[in-house]
Amino acid sequence: MGMARVILRPGREDSVLRRHPWIFSGAVQEVRGRPSPGETVEVLSSSGAWLAFGAWSPHSQIRVRVWSFDRGAPVEGALFEERIQRCMLLRRDILGARETNAFRLVHAESDGMPGLVVDSYAGFLVCQFSSAGVERHRDAIVDALEAAFSPRGVYERSDTDARTKEGLPKRTGLISGEEPPERVEIVEHGARFLVDIKRGHKTGFYLDQRENRLCARALSSGREVLNCFSYTGAFGVAAMLGGANSVLNVDTSAASLESALDNARLNGIDLSRFGVKEADVFSCLRELRDDGRSFDLVVLDPPKFASTAGQVARAARGYKDINMLAFEVLKPGGLLITFSCSAHIGPALFQKIVADAALDAGREASIVRYLWQASDHPVGLAFPEGLYLKGLVCAA
Ligand code: SAH
Repeated sequence: MGMARVILRPGREDSVLRRHPWIFSGAVQEVRGRPSPGETVEVLSSSGAWLAFGAWSPHSQIRVRVWSFDRGAPVEGALFEERIQRCMLLRRDILGARETNAFRLVHAESDGMPGLVVDSYAGFLVCQFSSAGVERHRDAIVDALEAAFSPRGVYERSDTDARTKEGLPKRTGLISGEEPPERVEIVEHGARFLVDIKRGHKTGFYLDQRENRLCARALSSGREVLNCFSYTGAFGVAAMLGGANSVLNVDTSAASLESALDNARLNGIDLSRFGVKEADVFSCLRELRDDGRSFDLVVLDPPKFASTAGQVARAARGYKDINMLAFEVLKPGGLLITFSCSAHIGPALFQKIVADAALDAGREASIVRYLWQASDHPVGLAFPEGLYLKGLVCAA
């Protein structure tokens, strides 16, 4: 019995020929065989041309995630080893001269590993297996990671919502090696941070903002900074190390703010100039505005407001609101560093939202810099969906 085959509807091979890795349920004409979740299938065009090997995901709208467009490369250990090796070399090349021991080693589709995220924190690897394909090959992938990286430990944080869509239960815990400590200390451009691998957001830290924190740091000297959606205070610490006069960190999570204070202490920051406020950013910004408070630099790094295309309109209103409020508490000559990490809100739309916000706030502003996710979060050229984080530095 050969490999199961997925036959596409007429015309639906185009995106596969352009090497896009997702095949949606609506593109599938017929399935020959009875593949189980994550099993490797062959993808064929309606006229029978061989297109790709992919992983079968019966429960997801993304019915197949392509592993390879090369008929001569079977989906097995050697393929994972080769891809992970390539990930390592890329990170060595792009991060080589920079000071960090925490980076994204594998960025899913954009690194040829659909549904797999692997972050490295001071030698501990944290993995998220979010698709049926990588779930099925979990052991071989972990073997390949160990062979390439010799990690101190491999920890699993497969507690993403994507797993639910794939019909997979959430799973966390030690996979192999040393159990990571409650908090792992990392270094980023000379700043030290404590990362809670086991319970923190995502895999513990927003590695994707590394280059943008460096940008904020370079713009902070002598400024009063408001760090909205601070999480564990990483932008705030960066700003203080860049010579900010003071930082106020705002977040709804008391635990994250406690960690922000720990991170400030770890970096020798004077806590009388590093404040934390447990509050909803929307109402906090309104209060600050109504109290006549203003800042020289405002950072807005909200969570993802749109998880689906259907949520874009609502999310856009949310982004516009906080950006308008941020402009309203910005001193003349101030800077706003504003982000959106919703992949469904593209760069052009985000810029328009921020423009509308400035207009409503009655501020004339210009963009002085465009910001993106850090370079260890690459975007496959055949996979534009890999771009999710964009930011603007606005001078008002
Ligand atoms: N800038 C951070 C990452 C921010 S993640 C960094 O560089 O590390 C988004 C944060 O927003 C989370 O910590 C979450 O607790 C917080 N958050 C979500 N909704 C919020 C709200 N309405 N008001 C304040 N904080 C909120």
